[in-house]
Amino acid sequence: MIVMKAEATKAEIDNVVKEIHKYGLKADISHGEFRTVIGLVGDETKIPFSHFAVLPGVKEAFMIETPYKLISKEYGKQFHEVAGRRVIKIGDITIGGDEPVFIAGPCAVESRQQVMRIAEGIKKAGAQVLRGGIFKPRSSVHSFQGLGAVGWEQAEEALSWLREAGDKYDMAVITEVRGETQVDLVAKYVDIMQIGTRNMYDQDLLVSVGRKHKPVLYKRHFGAGIEEFLSFAEYIAAEDNKDIILCERGILPLGKGKNFTRYTFDLSAIPVIEKETYLPVLADPSHATGRRDLIFSMSCAAMAAGACGLMIETHYNPAESLVDSQQMITPEELGEVITAARSIHKLVASARNKE
Ligand code: PEP
Ligand code: MN
Repeated sequence: MIVMKAEATKAEIDNVVKEIHKYGLKADISHGEFRTVIGLVGDETKIPFSHFAVLPGVKEAFMIETPYKLISKEYGKQFHEVAGRRVIKIGDITIGGDEPVFIAGPCAVESRQQVMRIAEGIKKAGAQVLRGGIFKPRSSVHSFQGLGAVGWEQAEEALSWLREAGDKYDMAVITEVRGETQVDLVAKYVDIMQIGTRNMYDQDLLVSVGRKHKPVLYKRHFGAGIEEFLSFAEYIAAEDNKDIILCERGILPLGKGKNFTRYTFDLSAIPVIEKETYLPVLADPSHATGRRDLIFSMSCAAMAAGACGLMIETHYNPAESLVDSQQMITPEELGEVITAARSIHKLVASARNKE
């Protein structure tokens, strides 16, 4: 990491970038309110930091010792003046700011009527972002794969329903992008692009999504360690896209016998990631537990752990849903979750301010 002096000129910054390119590395430039910080992307073991430290306009040059440098707390605190944290803005919605964010909607988009009715319900409940899967990752080829699997036209039509519902009820929209070929189409319609648990390791997808320069909701793989998760998030950040929302959605359960939940909700990941990075951390109790009767308590627990918000699968008639009906709650139940989550968020914030 190279920290420029507050008074560094553009020419001095350009000169540092030129030097970085000389060593075959990429420069990641972040302009803070008070100074510019330049991160190195690539194999920095070849770099003589002492050489960079004496270039004109440079305040200091040093190595960040983690594999996730560009999203690390250390890097971010140089250019995020407000508590060293990133606040992602989508219109009036802020993610990682003072207000918690709630993303809700069906597991899969099934029809225009379904999306519109759910959107109306979740808006009333207090959600700010509408979700709905179009390219669904499924364990079996024999189950419903989402409208995206029917054909390109159906995929685009389903995306247009999401957009229409988002616009009508003044909410941002998010959907999962499962493969590189889907990136352009999805980016045309949504405000946030979701990378699902099964694609956490797909470097090419991470790069293509990163290049769209839209906020990304990035889910932890169910078998990934935290360091691994953050190291792969770096692929998005290295494309000059730091609007990344990291999402804990449960990891594989251990041991024999029944675990009673779909995955194990790793709530300690939330404060750990918050300490390690400057990015907002969201929690998904729906996929973590797989049980509607646990959504309320685990939502409260995730907020107490410091989550910036929640993603919750919601349907006006859960039994009707073609996918994940066992974990869906109704918009009315969502309203109760949001009320409780908001008050816990406030409590956590005020307790932290007193620290
Ligand atoms: C989803 O949110 O639609 C989803 C499939 O979640 P995950 O990738 O966490 O399984
Ligand atoms: Mn689902």
